[in-house]
Amino acid sequence: MASDLRACARDARRIVVKVGSGVLSGRAQGLDAAVIARLAREVAQARAAGREVLIVSSGAILAGRQRLKLSGRPSIELKQAAAAVGQSRLMRTWEAALARSRLTAAQVLLTSDDLKDRERYLNARNTLLTLLGLGVVPVVNENDTVAVEEIKFGDNDGLSALVAGLVDARLLVLLTDQPGIFTADPRKDPSARRIAAFAPGEAPPALGAAGPLGTGGMASKARAAAQAAAGGIAAVIADGTVPGTLSAVLAGEEAGTFFAPAERPPAKRRQWLAFAARPKGRILVDAGARAALVERGKSLLPTGVKGASGTFERGDPVGLYEGGREFARGLTNFSSADLARIKGLKTSQIEAVLGSKPADEVVHRDNLAVNAA
Ligand code: GLU
Repeated sequence: MASDLRACARDARRIVVKVGSGVLSGRAQGLDAAVIARLAREVAQARAAGREVLIVSSGAILAGRQRLKLSGRPSIELKQAAAAVGQSRLMRTWEAALARSRLTAAQVLLTSDDLKDRERYLNARNTLLTLLGLGVVPVVNENDTVAVEEIKFGDNDGLSALVAGLVDARLLVLLTDQPGIFTADPRKDPSARRIAAFAPGEAPPALGAAGPLGTGGMASKARAAAQAAAGGIAAVIADGTVPGTLSAVLAGEEAGTFFAPAERPPAKRRQWLAFAARPKGRILVDAGARAALVERGKSLLPTGVKGASGTFERGDPVGLYEGGREFARGLTNFSSADLARIKGLKTSQIEAVLGSKPADEVVHRDNLAVNAA
């Protein structure tokens, strides 16, 4: 099975390559330009073979810390300052390395706010696709300097999965400093084995925390890979510290851990709702409504609504809750003020209460994404 699956990697035309700080530091204390040069050559080979490549590169904070000689655990403010210093150094290094293969780099800095708003999401998509059309290699990072807690992706793993979805990539390669996902922590358990592949929908095991340099750790890489795969994008977690890994993955050779893409992924709009949209509020529903939505693919009607929290307008993304748990996200047809007046009512009563009836459903099934179990 694995070799067939790996054919997806070999045949993928548009790919996203995420490079973590643990790879970019090489054996050096800060950014290792030789590692970037090597990766740039592998990217150039992929380009020469007719692929489009987007790079999601960490390393801004790493480079900035080195330049500013910050040691220990810097505060958020210092990390943001380090990112501002380091991002230009990171970019300069990528640009020089790609230029040696006659490739043009473009810096794209995103915050999670850029993707939570549907219009900005589509704008970011247009820009990235235009860059690819021009033959440019976008180098994406989180805009750490302005991204405070609530607008942060948190780590570049999640960002890379969103970017892969944004540009309809066929493959996401997460390059890390580990050979892949193991059955147990290989640092502690000598019998731990690398898992070569996950079938579509198969969940990775519980995994450990981040290494000393990156923020994500293996768990966040596995989550990002699984998210991409659920969206129909093949994903591989592999060891980027070993020269030639990217080329091996792209040649369809067995390297790292492969996540097979879902055969029937949900529509793009649903994926955006599930992973990128930021809910403006919550709608609380009863158990019957939850079952109708989750098990029978129905829309949410006012009769199943018990209440709402937060202030939202018609068209806003909301989280749907039952028994204290969010089980779905959707776009609401009613503002929070109107919903307070029609909750629990029959659809036929809406007009009498509100004076008009913008819709029968509170959330239409087409605008609904049920969370993975
Ligand atoms: N954006 C951070 C940086 O460039 C890295 C975040 C991560 O480690 O995933 O330094």
